[in-house]
Amino acid sequence: MTIGILGGGQLGRMLVLAGAPLGLQFKILDPSSEAVAGQLAPLLCEDINDVPALLWFSKNLDVVTYEWENVPVGSAKYLAARVPVFPPPRALEISSDRLKEKSFFRENGVPTPDFAAIESRAELDAALKEIGLPAVLKTRKFGYDGKGQFVLKTPRDADKAWEKLGGVPLILESFVPFEREVSILAVRGQGGEKRFYPLVENHHREGILRLSLVGAGLTSSSNRLDETQLEEDVSPASLQSDAEKFASKLLDKLDYVGVMALELFQIGERLLANEIAPRVHNSGHWTIEGSVCSQFENHLRAVAGLPLGSTEMKAPFAAMVNLIGHLPPLCEVLRIEGAHAHFYGKEIKAGRKVGHITLTASSREELQSAVDAAQLLTADGRR
Ligand code: AMP
Repeated sequence: MTIGILGGGQLGRMLVLAGAPLGLQFKILDPSSEAVAGQLAPLLCEDINDVPALLWFSKNLDVVTYEWENVPVGSAKYLAARVPVFPPPRALEISSDRLKEKSFFRENGVPTPDFAAIESRAELDAALKEIGLPAVLKTRKFGYDGKGQFVLKTPRDADKAWEKLGGVPLILESFVPFEREVSILAVRGQGGEKRFYPLVENHHREGILRLSLVGAGLTSSSNRLDETQLEEDVSPASLQSDAEKFASKLLDKLDYVGVMALELFQIGERLLANEIAPRVHNSGHWTIEGSVCSQFENHLRAVAGLPLGSTEMKAPFAAMVNLIGHLPPLCEVLRIEGAHAHFYGKEIKAGRKVGHITLTASSREELQSAVDAAQLLTADGRR
């Protein structure tokens, strides 16, 4: 079976790595000749909007998937008329527009922060009266890793926010005083069967994911990465079941096939949905060594129409430390007990995700010392 992947970054590369033992073949479409999945599978280097290129790409493929959430919906639909495309293009359409996404959550009973569509300065003023301060103004499209956003704290910030973002369709959201940012990775097969990974606690800095923690009721008491103290959570079971309920609803509604990430804010016992990613996700990288079947293999199993694999953890605790703009010497990573290195084969540039370290541990203390050691190897840890 040959699977076409739109986008050839590290996610595509890890899909190829997971598919090789299953005997799956791949073809990648990416506009960049540097796309790192191309080191492992044939790469067609063309514009993802180019119709003749899409037609050429679709030849002899059994199914198409994508690793890039900004895949143009038109391109996904064009391909879907010729070969099955999973996840369905509708998932791309919804996730690429924050207003459609939040409205979709609301329609399906998934709680979200308050929000309003903003097209004009007058609408911004009216929405601020309704939603109150603090609030976050975001572009509806093309925002990622915290880009295209402005946090409004005082009424005077409205001018600054409008100056920075006005002119394109926007969404205003209430600012959520969350305790933690979490995500749930879920997978749905072609027959509608579903599996869920345990909730992951995510730590960002400058809008980029730095650290993911997972394990029985694990939570850190600090949002500062340099002093992450792992503690026990109060109510992991109810949060997990709420997150599964929300993800399940969205997956079924979209007749989804593949892995989806749902990112949520936790405030006490409540979860509010922030966004979905219709693809394998950075907060699921720990599953490569941390789960019986990784998010990458489960995504491939789903899109290929194969039985789904177990999402059980192989060890009670796991973590993922992103390597951003810097790769430490491999031997220093491997010296950490329970650590696995994933270097993406990318050219190193400031702010670029160039690898990650997966950590598994049998106790909270063991994970703590592994996370501390791994964080010392990141660009931040070295400063
Ligand atoms: P996003 O691009 O929507 O994922 O937002 C990037 C980051 O901004 C999130 O990971 C949060 O840390 C923060 N953020 C986004 N929306 C909100 C909100 N409504 N309230 C509080 N923080 C937010």
